[in-house]
Amino acid sequence: MKGLMIFRNNLRLQHNAALQSIKSKVDYLDCVFVIEPTWLANANVGRSSFRDCYSGGMGEHRRRFLIECLLDLDQQLRQRGSLLGVHFGEFSEVIERLILTHDYDVIALVDLPGANEQQQTQRLLRRFPLKQWLIADDFYLMDRADQRLGSLEYPQSFSKFRRLLDGMKIEPPKELLGRLPPPSIWAEICLKKLARENVEEAHSHSGASLQRLQGGENAALEQLNYYLHERGLIRTYKKTRNGLDGWEFSSKMSGWLAQGCLSVRTLFYEIQRHEDRYGDNESTYWLRFELWWREYFQWLARNAGPRLFSLRGIKRVNPLLTFYPEAFMAWREGHTQCDFVNAFMKQLRATGWMSNRGRQIVASYLINELGVDWRYGAAYFEQQLIDYDCASNWGNWQYLAGVGTDPRGRRRFSMEKQKDVYDPNGEFTKAWLEEDSSYERSSFL
Ligand SMILES: Cc1cc2nc3c(=O)[nH]c(=O)nc-3n(C[C@H](O)[C@H](O)[C@H](O)COP(=O)(O)OP(=O)(O)OC[C@H]3O[C@@H](n4cnc5c(N)ncnc54)[C@H](O)[C@@H]3O)c2cc1C
Repeated sequence: MKGLMIFRNNLRLQHNAALQSIKSKVDYLDCVFVIEPTWLANANVGRSSFRDCYSGGMGEHRRRFLIECLLDLDQQLRQRGSLLGVHFGEFSEVIERLILTHDYDVIALVDLPGANEQQQTQRLLRRFPLKQWLIADDFYLMDRADQRLGSLEYPQSFSKFRRLLDGMKIEPPKELLGRLPPPSIWAEICLKKLARENVEEAHSHSGASLQRLQGGENAALEQLNYYLHERGLIRTYKKTRNGLDGWEFSSKMSGWLAQGCLSVRTLFYEIQRHEDRYGDNESTYWLRFELWWREYFQWLARNAGPRLFSLRGIKRVNPLLTFYPEAFMAWREGHTQCDFVNAFMKQLRATGWMSNRGRQIVASYLINELGVDWRYGAAYFEQQLIDYDCASNWGNWQYLAGVGTDPRGRRRFSMEKQKDVYDPNGEFTKAWLEEDSSYERSSFL
C-alpha cells in the first residue's frame, strides 16, 4: 500500500493525527508540502499601491518562519527514515498530479477552516472518491463530528460558544514512535536554497526577541516548556498579557499554532497538566480562555466560508468608509498623526509580530479614525504576521469593525486613554520610532 501525507498547517511529527493514522496503514509513505507561487512574491514592494496587499505574498518574517518550519520538519522526517518533498504550484493541481502519477491508496491531511482550504479538500475528495482519505481534526480542539457543535446555530456569539467548552478535558495526545514507512519517491528538495534566500537575510536585521520566534516543532516545544513549566509564566498571565514588547508577557505560541508546529490540543493538555500539578488560578484559566477564542474563530470561519472576507461581514451590515489610499498607506508605513499607532506599525514591519493590545489599537485606528475598509488592514496583517491564522485574523478584524459577531457593534478605542494605560511613559513609542531614523508623520492626514 502506498500513502501520501499532505502537510498543511500541521508541520510537526508529534501529536499529528493525520500522520499517526496513515503511518500504520501503508508500506510506503510520501510526505509532501506545497508552496503556492504567490507566497514567495515579494510582499514588501509596491509601497505606492493601495491594492498590492491583496497579492497573497508573505512578508519576509512570515516567509522566514514558514521556511524554518519546513527545514525543521524535513530534518525530523529524515531522522525517522523519511523526508519532506516540497513542491511549487497551485495546491490542488500539484496534489492531483501527484496522485495521478503515483497512484496512492491512502491519503492523509488536516482539515482547515478557511474557504480556500475547504474548497481544496472538497475538490480532492470529489476528484478521487475511491481513495481512502484520512482527514484529521487536530487544527481544532473539537472534532468536526462533536455533538456540541451540532447544537450551534450560526452566526454564534462567543459567550454562547464558550459555554460549550466549560469543563472541557483533553486526552493525553498520542506520541509518534519509531520509524516512518520509507518514501516511494526520493525527490530532491530545494529547501537549502530557499533558506539561503529567506532565512539568513531576515535574521540579519531582526532583534533578539524575534530570533526566539523561530519556526519548527523543536522551537515550539522549547517555548511551551519554558512558558508553562520551566518559568511558570502562565501563573501570572492575566496580569501581564497586555504587555506591548518583550518575550515574557504572553505565551508567544501563536506562530507555532498557526503553522501547526504545535497542536492546540497539546497546548491545552499541557495547561491541564500544569493545573493538575500546581493548581489552577485565574491566569491559567485565562490562557485556556484565549484558546477558546481561537477555537471560536475557527468554527465561525468554517461556517462563514467566503463571508469571512466580505466587506459587510458575517453580520451583513454596511460599514462607514472613505476611500483614501493615502490614509491606508500612512497607517501601513507608520506615518499617521498618532505616534502610538505608528510605533506598533513599525514594530510589525520590523519583526512580523505585534501584541494583542497593539493589534486592537491599530485596527481601531484604521477603521474608526481613518475610515478605511477593514479588509485592507486584515490583508496587510495576513502578509506580515508570523502567526497569521486565517480564522483568528479575519475573525478579529470583523469583530472590531462591527461586521462580525460582537453584539456591541464597532469597537472604538480612545488612543489617548490606551496610551495612558499601556504606555504611560512613552517608552514603547519612543523605542520603535527611534528604530526608524527617517521617521516622519504624513502631512496628508
Ligand atoms: C486585529 C487582530 C488580528 C489578529 N490576528 C491574528 C492572527 O492572524 N493569528 C493569531 O494567532 N492571532 C491573531 N490575533 C489574536 C491575538 O492577537 C494573538 O493570538 C496573540 O496576540 C498572539 O500572541 P500570544 O501567542 O503570545 O498570545 P497569548 O496571549 O499567549 O494567547 C495564547 C493563544 O491564545 C490564542 N488567542 C489569544 N487571543 C486571541 C484572540 N483574540 N483571537 C484568537 N485567538 C487568540 C492564540 O492562539 C494565542 O497564541 C489577532 C487579534 C486582533 C485584534
